[in-house]
Amino acid sequence: MGGTPQVMATAAEVRKRVGRARASGESVGLVPTMGALHGGHLALMERARAECGYVVATVFVNPTQFPPGDDFERYPRDLDGDARKAGEVGVDLIFAPPVGEVYPPGDCTFVEVTGPLVECLCGPHRPGHFRGVTTVCARLFNMVGADRAYFGEKDYQQLLVLKQMVRDLSIPVEIVAVPTVRERDGLAMSSRNSYLSAEEREAATVLYRALSAAEREAASGERDAVALVSGVSEMIEGEPLVELQYAELRDAETLDELARLDRRAVLAVAAFVGKARLIDNVVIEPRG
Ligand code: AMP
Repeated sequence: MGGTPQVMATAAEVRKRVGRARASGESVGLVPTMGALHGGHLALMERARAECGYVVATVFVNPTQFPPGDDFERYPRDLDGDARKAGEVGVDLIFAPPVGEVYPPGDCTFVEVTGPLVECLCGPHRPGHFRGVTTVCARLFNMVGADRAYFGEKDYQQLLVLKQMVRDLSIPVEIVAVPTVRERDGLAMSSRNSYLSAEEREAATVLYRALSAAEREAASGERDAVALVSGVSEMIEGEPLVELQYAELRDAETLDELARLDRRAVLAVAAFVGKARLIDNVVIEPRG
């Protein structure tokens, strides 16, 4: 495997190349990313490589999904490094458009999922974020025309919001979910981990430690949501360098709040560690 993939900046070029792949009978996989690629992104690309004849990755730091004052300007960017890493896992084409290609001057259209899926967890904390995500993904899906698009469970709420959008708009793409890839000490890989000092990096491991402790409690029979969530909150709040934003237990399909762990559920957290806002989650299946 390998070779640096072709990097294209316009939808017209991409469409032509993807059209050729399609004409020769290949299925097309799409991996949307904001770049600064790490092992999590590469797992999505490997999965796409295994399941599709032709693999396109997008590298686009999407301005509309950053709330005002967020880290759009300082978000890490490294297109050359990204192209090399993507090539190593067999990506065929990188689509790295300038902002004006995705948002042409004078454009007036957003795509927005409304209702419970966006009104909880990260939704209220990051106004406009999911609207930006659905808008850019709808545009990328139209530009590339993939059969499958690969997203990480690390961004669990995003995954559900995108599935809802695709269903509601009958977009002919299958959303494929890929499990969270972690560092050896459990920290979920994230482009934002590069913001962490050595001390903060160490402190950040509390997120997954807390989620894992709750998983163990659930496995040994704890069903009370308050008990599970307060265990997580207390552990995270006990770490001075970490500022918890939320810890919540919700239905894994609808994101309805749960009083008891009586169905498949997602336990999700968000926290600031220094300048980095990090999220993580585990999906828990109650047994017995
Ligand atoms: P981003 O570049 O952060 O927008 O992420 C692009 C895609 O990679 C999204 O589908 C994310 O959910 C996914 N992703 C990011 N981090 C991880 C991770 N640690 N494990 C699996 N997928 C991830």
